[in-house]
Amino acid sequence: MAVKQRRQLTDEERAERRERDREYARKAVEQLRSSDGWKAWLTARTSFHSYSLGNQLLIAMQRPTATRVAGFQAWLRLGYCVSRGEIAIRIWAPCPPTRKQLEKWRQSGGDPDQRPRTFFKLAAVFADDQVAPLPPPAVPAPLDPPIRDVEGDELAPVIPSLVGLAEEIGCTVAFAPISGGAHGYYQPSTDRIVVDDGLSANQRVKTLCHELAHALVRHDRQPNDPALDYAGEELVAESVAYTCVGALGVSTEDYSIPYLASWAESSDLEVLERTAGLIDRLARRIEGATIHDLPGNVDTHAATADQQPVTA
Ligand SMILES: [Zn+2]
Repeated sequence: MAVKQRRQLTDEERAERRERDREYARKAVEQLRSSDGWKAWLTARTSFHSYSLGNQLLIAMQRPTATRVAGFQAWLRLGYCVSRGEIAIRIWAPCPPTRKQLEKWRQSGGDPDQRPRTFFKLAAVFADDQVAPLPPPAVPAPLDPPIRDVEGDELAPVIPSLVGLAEEIGCTVAFAPISGGAHGYYQPSTDRIVVDDGLSANQRVKTLCHELAHALVRHDRQPNDPALDYAGEELVAESVAYTCVGALGVSTEDYSIPYLASWAESSDLEVLERTAGLIDRLARRIEGATIHDLPGNVDTHAATADQQPVTA
């Protein structure tokens, strides 16, 4: 069989492709303008929290039902085959310089400023609902993530880690009865978080994530963070809780997000993206402290993509 030689792209063609890719990624950010799109992103994020924000948005736009993606060859290694006629999802993948390019650079003096760089391009992957298990003797790997009920207690092991994270940023956490129906609160003046001790462990974790997000917004402030009014901060806190609890395997189907339609419509796309970036960063901090406390939550995504997902 003849091997198809891929023609090298000219610089002009490459620049055109880059612009097309960027335009496609911008479209993925646009979905944050609607309540449904916002929720689709947070839901995709529960499965793809180790991927870059850009890739989370690209997956949410193209395949909101996906809980796992991998390249064609990576699916074969997992014991699955992409079904006939399925159209690939495109996400950012790094393209490091080839050995040949590096060799050429070294031979021409190895100037650090001229070193060939890794660039990113949109590469094809497929979702778990676009593949079918291969027949025996293949042994398809299990794919279903654990689903836990919000009224359950499976997340009890992560509570000490969440309390530890709160203490790390100078907050105290108390579990005590709360009158008036609130599940918890955060008091900025005393840096105190209180969570209702009558809740199930899973509800306590969700409430702690929410209150921790309020505390982190103040303690983990970065120059690029968007300015938040009361409602905006509430949207951030609830979005963080939603996506973190989902990443820990709790069903998020019944949750509603206090989405701010008028804010989203009137804000620049860049503000929406920075707000999503803040949520992603705070959620990563919480997940980083907790995700390894639970069996079955270890991230296997990175190992199964043909190319590593973008994490920058
Ligand atoms: Zn709140």
